[in-house]
Amino acid sequence: MAQRILIAEDHPDSLELMRYLLQAHGYRSFAAGDGEAALALARTELPDLIVCDLQMPVMDGCELARRIRADPALCHIPLVAVTAFSMLGDRERILEAGFDGYFSKPIDVERFVGELERFLPGGSAMRRQGG
Ligand code: MN
Repeated sequence: MAQRILIAEDHPDSLELMRYLLQAHGYRSFAAGDGEAALALARTELPDLIVCDLQMPVMDGCELARRIRADPALCHIPLVAVTAFSMLGDRERILEAGFDGYFSKPIDVERFVGELERFLPGGSAMRRQGG
């Protein structure tokens, strides 16, 4: 079964690109446009990994990360931030919020999925499928 990835991202173009890349690599993805919606989806879908923009309406990425880490049902899920380059100075804040790692935008289409797979517990979707 394909691994399932939740994308929390309020920018339609970034969201579309991430969904496209994940689908092309055999992953199932679902999306939320703000942190609160993402938290609700995480609780119902229990994804294998969460990719998260930092600047979002309603609830930002760091608050989402703190809520996930404080929830016994969700705290084990790998959490990766995707952030504008200008935010990279906030590395400490990102890691303290509970993220396992982060990428800078713009998304590197050649490397995005491969780098994300480092955070997936079972390795890549292709290996999961025995291919
Ligand atoms: Mn944003």
